[in-house]
Amino acid sequence: MNRQCRATDETLWCSLREAFPLPSWSRAMAKESSYAEKLAFIEEITTDVDAVQERVLAEILGRNGDSEYLAKKCGLAGATDRATFRAKVPMVSYQDLQPYIRRIADGDRSPILTGAAHPVTEFLTSSGTSGGERKLLPNVEDVLGRGMPMPSLVTALISQNVPGIGQGTALYFHFAKSETTTPGGLPARTVLTSLYKSNRFKNSPGISTTSPLAAILCEDTFQSMYAQMLCGLCRRRDVVRVGAVFASGLLRAVRFLQVNWEQLAADVEAGVLNSRVTDKSVREAVAGVLRPDPELARFVRAECSKGDWAGIITRIWPNTKYLETIATGAMAQYVWTLNYYSGGLPVASMGYASSECNIGLNLHPLCDPSEVSYTIMPNMAYFEFLPMDIDAGDASHADQLVELARVEVGREYELVVTTYAGLNRYRVGDILRVTGFHNAAPQFSFVRRRNVLLSIEADKTDEAELQRAVDRASSALLRPLGAAVLDYTSRTCTETIPGHYVIYWELMMTNKDAAVDDDVLERCCLEMEEALSAVYRQSRVADGSIGPLEIRVVRPGTFEALMDYAVSRGTSVGQYKVPRCVTALPAVIELLDSRVVSCHFSPKLPHWAPAGQR
Ligand code: AMP
Repeated sequence: MNRQCRATDETLWCSLREAFPLPSWSRAMAKESSYAEKLAFIEEITTDVDAVQERVLAEILGRNGDSEYLAKKCGLAGATDRATFRAKVPMVSYQDLQPYIRRIADGDRSPILTGAAHPVTEFLTSSGTSGGERKLLPNVEDVLGRGMPMPSLVTALISQNVPGIGQGTALYFHFAKSETTTPGGLPARTVLTSLYKSNRFKNSPGISTTSPLAAILCEDTFQSMYAQMLCGLCRRRDVVRVGAVFASGLLRAVRFLQVNWEQLAADVEAGVLNSRVTDKSVREAVAGVLRPDPELARFVRAECSKGDWAGIITRIWPNTKYLETIATGAMAQYVWTLNYYSGGLPVASMGYASSECNIGLNLHPLCDPSEVSYTIMPNMAYFEFLPMDIDAGDASHADQLVELARVEVGREYELVVTTYAGLNRYRVGDILRVTGFHNAAPQFSFVRRRNVLLSIEADKTDEAELQRAVDRASSALLRPLGAAVLDYTSRTCTETIPGHYVIYWELMMTNKDAAVDDDVLERCCLEMEEALSAVYRQSRVADGSIGPLEIRVVRPGTFEALMDYAVSRGTSVGQYKVPRCVTALPAVIELLDSRVVSCHFSPKLPHWAPAGQR
């Protein structure tokens, strides 16, 4: 290894470079600047996609070929080539692997999913709000590092559009979560917690943030957020980017400021941290940053007491160039609110990753959020794609899997991964659409999670459809009045006959004089129905098998309470995503229903006509 490399992120970058050496032309270019080298790496790796994938598969099968799963269950017999892999290894879901995972979690140290030389060292717990159940995904110590150059690749990409970005610092809200231990003694924690606790994160020169590590690692959400916000305020002029992993986390931080600015300002004035922060290491870390600053305290009070929160991010952190947060998929509905609080700053959704593995990068980070595509990084795992337009009844789905270099523009696929950490042809559950290519590497827009959200009978409403419907009603009927939907979720109500959709809305007034009366909310119900699928409207109009859609308006703060509830049950704040459907979560329904302030029903039938008569 090149001894000149600095620790951690740079070291990992160097080892990655070693695994995928640059040709001589780009090595020469690399001398110019490390950004140039990283950009050259992206160029190279996206040019040689198929060869890189073949090599990655051989490497994975070489590492894990002696595992019980590959050797005995699949009968791979040491083969590392694609043809044998395709012929012998089935496509699986979490349920298929659960018995193997259980044994590892219970302490069986034989090579079950990974090779004898690469034992599972921890489990990563998925957010659990997508499929309902929290999944335990195996991880191997050296594997997460494959993704760690991501932050430095991201900074290199951004530097092309925002000169000097490397010099400033980021106000980036990170949250670690408490971890558990499996009966067999392995840690089970979120992927972000695993990352934050790793040495490569602690020492990474690629990530300069205002948040002290002690605050990030503090498992008490209030103390962690308070300390991160306070440090962000103290260094407000150094901040050039503001972010959190998911848009919902960033908005929660804004909300935190709305609720706690008076106390934060008092702390800044006195230079003394609030006694509600009791964690010793957090107090020590904040003491290194906090000084009595009456002028800053006056400024915070003046900005936050105006009652006008439009553009608050750029008012408080005036040098912010863009927001760095994921605003695609389920997070797309927050784009409008992000714009509102930031005064329209660009929103960079930089990466696409999961507990299974790191997946892709957005090579055009400052593009409009609705146009984001992720380029899958072919060195992260072996990627295959299940076409969405094949016959669902066909049992031989694995035969239909398409390799990364062979997907077609315009088609939708479900992502299937084979990882260094022992998942083989594993369905992630994400549906992606191919939007184009960067060199030979396909680019994908995130379409949705596989699971349907709402269904009363033949209708199948997914997350994207529901979001479009909420968006349509909100932009047509609420925004002109100075109101918006701050957050929402849904469920089917089958206590009535016929059943109907119930959509819970928390409203936000962007104009303090906004009046949203019953009539407007009834029209919102109808507008949503108009936006739902033809199958839904047919059921409503022709079949009468679905009742009028209902909006239940909930009290301000309800979605925060929902998040607190999820966090109290083990979800990490950093990974939390509002469940878009709560039909199967009676405790959450109870929480929501206890906070309903008014109910509204669609006043008439939406439009529907048989095909050809529209
Ligand atoms: P988890 O494993 O709990 O961290 O959740 C990973 C899932 O979050 C992915 O499988 C996606 O469904 C979703 N996700 C992650 N990154 C993005 C992104 N950039 N855009 C949309 N959805 C994402």
